[in-house]
Amino acid sequence: MAVVTRFAPSPTGYLHIGGARTALFNWLYARGRGGRFLLRIEDTDRARSTPEATEAIYRGLRGLGLDWDGEAVSQASRVARHAEVARAMLDNGSAYKCFATPEEIEAAREAARAEGRSTHFSSPWRDVPPAEHPDAPFVVRLCAPREGQTVIEDAVQGRVTWDNDQLDDMVLLRSDGTPTYMLAVVVDDHDMGITHVIRGDDHLANAARQAQIWRAMGWSEPVWAHIPLIHGEDGKKLSKRHGAVGVEDWLERGYPPAALRNYLARLGWSHGDDEVFVTEQAIEWFDLSGIGRSPARLDGKKLDHLSGRHITTMPDEELLEGIEAWLVLTTQPGLDARRRDALRRALPFVKERAKTYPDLLDKAIFALASRPIEPDAAAAKCLDPKSRGMLAELTPHLHNASWTRETLEDVVGRVAEAHNIKLGKLAQPIRAALAGRTATPSVFDMMLVIGRDETVARLTDAA
Ligand code: GLU
Repeated sequence: MAVVTRFAPSPTGYLHIGGARTALFNWLYARGRGGRFLLRIEDTDRARSTPEATEAIYRGLRGLGLDWDGEAVSQASRVARHAEVARAMLDNGSAYKCFATPEEIEAAREAARAEGRSTHFSSPWRDVPPAEHPDAPFVVRLCAPREGQTVIEDAVQGRVTWDNDQLDDMVLLRSDGTPTYMLAVVVDDHDMGITHVIRGDDHLANAARQAQIWRAMGWSEPVWAHIPLIHGEDGKKLSKRHGAVGVEDWLERGYPPAALRNYLARLGWSHGDDEVFVTEQAIEWFDLSGIGRSPARLDGKKLDHLSGRHITTMPDEELLEGIEAWLVLTTQPGLDARRRDALRRALPFVKERAKTYPDLLDKAIFALASRPIEPDAAAAKCLDPKSRGMLAELTPHLHNASWTRETLEDVVGRVAEAHNIKLGKLAQPIRAALAGRTATPSVFDMMLVIGRDETVARLTDAA
């Protein structure tokens, strides 16, 4: 059986980290099995479901590199089909018309409350034959089993059981003929051929209701997999209080999408002790059995660490592309040919320690900057008259030196020796002159990256 999974977000204005994780799990599961990954926008709440909110979901998914198969399905566009299924359920006897008015329902609830009984509404219309139906507005209700239990086998939660006397006859179609959410989800999942419903465990209770609809229609239900929700660093349910919880915030902060996929995959799923992996590995390894039963916790330090590891090991060309995409995303000016080239040459010397793209660009500032180099306050201190004298002395030697690390070390070493100071001491003003900073890659790395002319010019400027 070919696997078909789906991500079914309600457009709320942005792609939440929890949603992104759900999308990723569904995507990994399908991609690892030659299956299909579909997108359904649950846009039946017309007030909230603006085109902008839907666009934000597309952007978040694309930004993360999660592609879906075919066109996204709009749930709202399918109401006629949802109603058709409700009618089919009336026909097969698994649903009935309920003519109880909202006032009657409220009165029944009040009475139940007063007597301390369950306030589930038991419609008096459940067993009334159609011949006795009035010509009045009605809702369509599921004829839910009264006795026994509703059981699902969940791939993450195990067997989950509900007593049927706790589940009322849910409404499938409202009196205005519009479908309820519960009906819409099942009809859409069925029609889209979904084989695995992988989603947050905040939907576990819905699974009981939805399973009843699947069974009432005689459709073979999907595999259920309800993933524990993500918690904040404080162990509490994730919310806006926790700061940036939108995928786009993370992308804007300059984490490579591959690192975010790695991080999100580890939020609730594990494969042995593997922490750092590329997406191809995750696709190969991902399975529902690797999903844990307790909530995952966000951990900013871990995200930084993983991101750093990805940046260190990513091929330079890929890093350059990632940085350029990030500049576009954050509406910053792109790299001109000179800066792109300078950055490419600097990458091997700066990518070891960078955690994000902006971090990387900052560390590569020595290569990207153009003269005159403005020293910051600390760097300016290193450029005292004595140091500037030494820089002036150094430049003629550099004019003629062959541009290799060995020779450069030798030349700088000899000037330091002549002044009876350690090489490290002379490196400080060189650093300040080349980068305008006191913390930089090694001075020899910088010289090799920016080349002879630029090195000599910057040292001369500072001297
Ligand atoms: N639209 C629901 C949500 O955004 C998900 C429904 C589902 O996955 O079944 O939480």
